[in-house]
Amino acid sequence: MDISQIINELGEDRDHYFNAIAPPIIQTSNFAFKNVAALSKAFEDEMGGYLYSRGLNPTVDILRKKLAALDGAEDCLVFNNGAAAIFAGIFANIKSGDHIVSVKAPYTWVQRMFDVILPRFNVSVTYIDGTSIANWKNATKENTSFYYLESPNSWDFAIQPIREVAELARSKGIVTLIDNSYCTPLYQKPIEMGIDMVMQTATKYIGGHSDTLGGVLCGSHTMMKKIFDSEYLNIGSGIQPFNAWLMIRGLRTLPARIERITKSTATVVSFMKQHPKVESLIFPLDESFPQFALAKDQMKGACGLFTFTLKTGKRDSIVQFCESLKHIMMAVSWGGHESLVIPKCAGIPMAEFDTSNREHRYIRMYVGLEDPQYLIADLEQALNSI
Ligand SMILES: *Cc1c(COP(=O)(O)O)cnc(C)c1O
Repeated sequence: MDISQIINELGEDRDHYFNAIAPPIIQTSNFAFKNVAALSKAFEDEMGGYLYSRGLNPTVDILRKKLAALDGAEDCLVFNNGAAAIFAGIFANIKSGDHIVSVKAPYTWVQRMFDVILPRFNVSVTYIDGTSIANWKNATKENTSFYYLESPNSWDFAIQPIREVAELARSKGIVTLIDNSYCTPLYQKPIEMGIDMVMQTATKYIGGHSDTLGGVLCGSHTMMKKIFDSEYLNIGSGIQPFNAWLMIRGLRTLPARIERITKSTATVVSFMKQHPKVESLIFPLDESFPQFALAKDQMKGACGLFTFTLKTGKRDSIVQFCESLKHIMMAVSWGGHESLVIPKCAGIPMAEFDTSNREHRYIRMYVGLEDPQYLIADLEQALNSI
């Protein structure tokens, strides 16, 4: 289906709500039944209708249909945030004694789940450099039941050969889940490449305005129903109707925002690359990126995140640079209207900062919707201050 149709029409039934262009927010916790037979049917299969808004809700359903179609998936569940989507997708597919192979340095709260929560349930995780298929093969054990991918990673943009990993997993009956937050389905379609479940945080590009959280999990209807009937209903982390409505609103402008951010990012990246105070820059669709060929093959584009290091190795200079920015703010997250930076050293105890470790010196920038020249002027004056 055409992307414009998905965003503007799919799932919307305007005849049912006064032909309003914007859908209603069905702000209700429960739904009434006219007879016992209908109520019994809803108890039997809660995913088949509306019973209680911890399960399905009509406003949320509009969003589900659009997001499933964008990912080319049969079905979709929308969570209150991305971390919950990942948690449910993994938890529904593992049991005590299982083993997971994961890319190294996945999103913070995934790593936390793997290191702190899963060991309590006798599930072990092996972290690998996921860039080569051989590493996936070598790490796979008899009891491996799950592969966790994140491509590209949101700090160093390391990518996995998605088709090959999916094929290997299928041949061994291993379930796959990929964090596709960086690309969004506009720039990468992992379901088409054979991945079972695609997750993206809707907090970032889908919401797009830094005012609400959400998480998307797409896959087969069978898989989504399995998760719905257990983790989704039990944890109660489904998105609320008002937040779903904000996400539908965000979707209307997603392609326009992504297009602008892609263009602006290219302009800002070119400026940073030639600046004498910048040592190196990592961006997956830059020719200097070590996996440039694979990135071009798997991804239709790259969005607003890139990472760079300064020539000076001093922590103080990194701090000085970040604090000198007048318009670009310092904050976690990305995908909103506002440009941001975040220095890796903020998460490293001062005494452990090692200037010879390039990762410790990473500064990540997110390019938002501002005029790129306005951002470049801010970057330039901050770079000149060090
Ligand atoms: C933000 C983020 C998440 C988690 O999403 P939340 O909506 O914040 O829970 C997962 N993966 C990546 C790559 C992210 O940047």
